[in-house]
Amino acid sequence: MNLKKLLLLPLYVILAVVLAVASLAIFPYVFTNIYKFPDIKPFTGNEWYNPYADTSGEWFKSNFHAHSKAWGGLTNGTLSPNQLDSVYLSLGYDFIGISNYHLISKSARTSSESFIPIYEHGLNILKRHQHPLGAKEVVNFDYPLFQSLHHKQDIIERLRPTTRLLAINHPEFLNSYDPDDFKYLSNYTHIEILNHYRTSLKHWDVALSAGYPAFGYGNDDSHDQTKTDETGRFWTMVRATSNLSDLFLDALRKGNTIAVKGDRGVVDNELRYLKIVNDTLRLKLSTISDSIVVIGNNGERLSSLANSDSLLFSLTKLKAYVRIEVYNPKTSMFLNPVIRTEGILPTYKPVKNAAFSFLVRIVGITLYAAFLLWILRYVKKIYRYYRNRSVIKIV
Ligand SMILES: [Zn+2]
Repeated sequence: MNLKKLLLLPLYVILAVVLAVASLAIFPYVFTNIYKFPDIKPFTGNEWYNPYADTSGEWFKSNFHAHSKAWGGLTNGTLSPNQLDSVYLSLGYDFIGISNYHLISKSARTSSESFIPIYEHGLNILKRHQHPLGAKEVVNFDYPLFQSLHHKQDIIERLRPTTRLLAINHPEFLNSYDPDDFKYLSNYTHIEILNHYRTSLKHWDVALSAGYPAFGYGNDDSHDQTKTDETGRFWTMVRATSNLSDLFLDALRKGNTIAVKGDRGVVDNELRYLKIVNDTLRLKLSTISDSIVVIGNNGERLSSLANSDSLLFSLTKLKAYVRIEVYNPKTSMFLNPVIRTEGILPTYKPVKNAAFSFLVRIVGITLYAAFLLWILRYVKKIYRYYRNRSVIKIV
């Protein structure tokens, strides 16, 4: 082997690795589906959906998103599931959900009755992550590189039959989801509005303003539970009659939960009730807050009240939805919206455009096959170059 060949060898090896990774990363795009997005309409009707109508039970402090050490340390997680559980237990959490990447984990302490199978879905470079809650299985399919709105919807469609609830995680993080995506996406149930990487209230208000009934929830998304800046910072208060997983999932489904931002898991205020009587929203807290803010369509601030533990707010002139934010000395509470309805909350699902999906797949398979052939020809060329023996020149 001459010197030139020897020097070029590492370059060819790197190129071979890049091409192998690229061909693997591109492969899932062959399975792209194309959708007709539903015509989501702004909330309307003479009735109000109130997620807090059921006042039975108590509030359980819960975190549904925390990573433990997993996959032999390959993914970002520091403590074992049992150590993670101990940290949150010491911070007074009632429900401690472990959600590793593509892996359902459980601490030894958690009983099977109160265990909710959760994992974080996402094998892509731009942090487009989803959160199956009550998962029956792990779906390992993803589009690793770019994702159009159709790819984002397709992931939801692939996950949805395998899980009771499905959240879109931290959409603001790395702009993984554009706020406008939420005018079109459907068939998910929650948006992770609070997360220690990013808050995503804008995305939530876009979904709600479009007329999609998504509920918000908050989680630490901690990766190292010894760090106080990412542990005990964001959580979800769940109102249920006991900590049985079925009741928790039902409370989440109904929106009888509150996303909270705070520190060390300290709770300094609680919702006593939120009622709607004769088109007036009546809210009562356990203690006086710094301020209670009323938010309407497109995140517009409609009203605010300082130093109060209660609020009366007329809904007569409001068309679509109203949500409340409560600011306390140590916590900020983000309540789920009350929504105008014609009796029940609307549901939306996209329709797969089978003919167009088939066409896209045929084109995709053809392009992919051409790409593989190009790689094969290139590899053959290099192989021939190295098989053509010549004397090694030593300088
Ligand atoms: Zn994530």
